[in-house]
Amino acid sequence: MSLTKTKIEYLKGVGPQRAELFKTELGIFTCGDLLMHFPFRYVDKTKFHRVMDINPNVDGAAVQLKGVIRRMETKGDGRKKRLIARFRDETGFMELIWFKGVHWMEKKLVAGVEYIVYGKVSSFNGKVNIVHPEIEPVTANNEQEALSLEPVYPSTDKLTNKGLDAKGQRKVMRILMNKLQEKDIPEILPEYMIEKMKFPSRYEAVRNIHFPKNQKEMVGARNRLKFEELFFLQLRLLQLRSNRKDTLKGYPFTKVGDYFMTFFKEKIPFELTNAQKRVVKEIRKDMAPSGELEDGTFVAKQMNRLLQGDVGSGKTMVGLMSMLLALDNGFQACMMAPTEILAQQHYNSITEYLSGMGVRVALLTGSVKGKKRKELLKLLALGELDILIGTHALLEDPVVFKNLGLAITDEQHRFGVAQRARLWRKSSPFPPHVLVMTATPIPRTLQMTIFGDLDVSVIDELPPGRKPITTIHKREGGRLRMFGIMREELAKGRQVYVVYPLIEESETLDLKNLEEGYEAVQREFPMPDFQISVVHGRMKPADKDFEMNRFAKGETQIMVATTVIEVGVNVPNASVMVIENAERFGLSQLHQLRGRVGRGAEQSYCILMTRNNLGEEGRERIGTMVRTNNGFEIAEADLKLRGPGNIEGTQQSGVIHFRLADLVKDARVLQTAREIAKRIIEDDPNLQKPHHARLRAYMEGYAKRLKGWSRIS
Ligand code: ADP
Ligand code: MG
Repeated sequence: MSLTKTKIEYLKGVGPQRAELFKTELGIFTCGDLLMHFPFRYVDKTKFHRVMDINPNVDGAAVQLKGVIRRMETKGDGRKKRLIARFRDETGFMELIWFKGVHWMEKKLVAGVEYIVYGKVSSFNGKVNIVHPEIEPVTANNEQEALSLEPVYPSTDKLTNKGLDAKGQRKVMRILMNKLQEKDIPEILPEYMIEKMKFPSRYEAVRNIHFPKNQKEMVGARNRLKFEELFFLQLRLLQLRSNRKDTLKGYPFTKVGDYFMTFFKEKIPFELTNAQKRVVKEIRKDMAPSGELEDGTFVAKQMNRLLQGDVGSGKTMVGLMSMLLALDNGFQACMMAPTEILAQQHYNSITEYLSGMGVRVALLTGSVKGKKRKELLKLLALGELDILIGTHALLEDPVVFKNLGLAITDEQHRFGVAQRARLWRKSSPFPPHVLVMTATPIPRTLQMTIFGDLDVSVIDELPPGRKPITTIHKREGGRLRMFGIMREELAKGRQVYVVYPLIEESETLDLKNLEEGYEAVQREFPMPDFQISVVHGRMKPADKDFEMNRFAKGETQIMVATTVIEVGVNVPNASVMVIENAERFGLSQLHQLRGRVGRGAEQSYCILMTRNNLGEEGRERIGTMVRTNNGFEIAEADLKLRGPGNIEGTQQSGVIHFRLADLVKDARVLQTAREIAKRIIEDDPNLQKPHHARLRAYMEGYAKRLKGWSRIS
């Protein structure tokens, strides 16, 4: 059997008990697994220092020495008892001191024998010494081994108790390494890549990551293995994407017709931003024919595109123009929003945009009932409706389209996989093209790993003329100033949100917070001059909608709410967002909330109220919010602060755990890995070409291992 498949218990120095711990504590079952258990740091022992050169003024420097013990003596009694060994190398003397295990060390050490000593230098009365050094007699092997970067492995209490601390693991690893032969670690990258990237072979990299002789070997090994980790994931994701595109057929939208052109030339009330133009092009290309059959009919691939754009970046317009393309090709289109209010808003703005164009648009939500609903469904099935806008109600079985060509969902994270599948079944023989719009920016690196097999478009530019929202941080002492800003804006006829956090574990407490806050706001802004809406999670959906609508219509001026205020709601007249206990919100949530204002032409404000003393992370978060309005920048900051596992929109993805790669630090490596993988898949999607034989061989097992990994789609 090959060494890498050998069970860990058969490795000398391990045995059944330690093997069990390797399994339960570290998930290591085979020698191959053990080889992939990498050091998390190294101790520099690349040279022997000379006693003469040790600087007594630099306390705590670590040194490695080689020399002999001349004599030993114990001094003191009881707890003060200590063993002092006089150690010398060719350049001078120093003392090695033990306070613990005095008796044992005294027996173990032998005067006149040559030792390798390692430890931190301290000085006492101008003399240097090392307390509790590591010490080992020089043997044939270890003198060379000693001159290296010493690997330090992650350990746990349980492992340490069984002698598998960093040192114990190092010993086991050394035994394994002595057995390891070149054939045990076959190469998996093509020769041309290794040459181009100046990588060590895989065998060398595995050896060197554990026992590098110097910095250069260590860095070379880590770079190669890190690249490999990112590269194979990208290769697989891009392969999945390519395979799916080949198998999933969609409707070919052969032309850009009157609807699109008329709208683009005559109706559109503003100039599209460059980002919007680019994305519309990408979408158009996705839905265009990819080929032509012998009989002259066209074929296309099904579009599956994620559209990311910060709040207010104009995603709806892109969605609308895509729908017009569907109409131009004789198909129906639909747009689905997570709430009634949002659906209603989309309906209002879209009917307004399209007025006079003869496009038949309808709205379907839970509250469309009875005869009206029946009539709507009938028209839809007959193809006498062109665009249907709605909520989840669109997914119900009685909702039958004549020929749905494009389905758009807004604020994607609210939709589950099952719902997505229902949408796909709304059309036959092919599923509709699908565009998913989300306002939750995901950092590039995460996007490449989590959505690496989807097509992603990004609107990274806001329409011109927007006034950036001014974000202000106030502590308790600034409350009057906060009320002042509210008052000024209300006097101008603007509206204000005041938001409280909602943390599920203490819903009662949060409700109390909200009620007290409401009372305070009411005292400051009393009726009848001011009308206040309250919305919270315990309210019935219908009541919530009712209050939201009052606010949207301007009947109330202040909205006091928990975070249930809906994503995407558009009240352009609202110009102030006050967030109470802002330190309790995550960055992306703060950014989403802030996006509720700044939708009109006027200057808007976001006021972050926090307690007086913030922790470091809290300060960092609030500081980021004050500094920038850019959602992608905020997402990057969030990634740095909280790590990839906690970023909103990624929770379900079981974000891939990398051994070496770090999505924050290794963004460039990831980019390179993706570009190379992309070129390979474009050239040879199934890795059939001879020079990709190694990739193909490795990919078989890799694809299986990756299967458990899932993402939102
Ligand atoms: P999103 O859904 O991305 O948050 P919307 O599509 O709701 O953003 O657009 C926000 C506002 O910006 C809307 O009032 C819309 O009419 C306007 N808008 C969209 N694109 C442009 C543009 N290119 N120039 C000016 N205003 C635009
Ligand atoms: Mg929107």
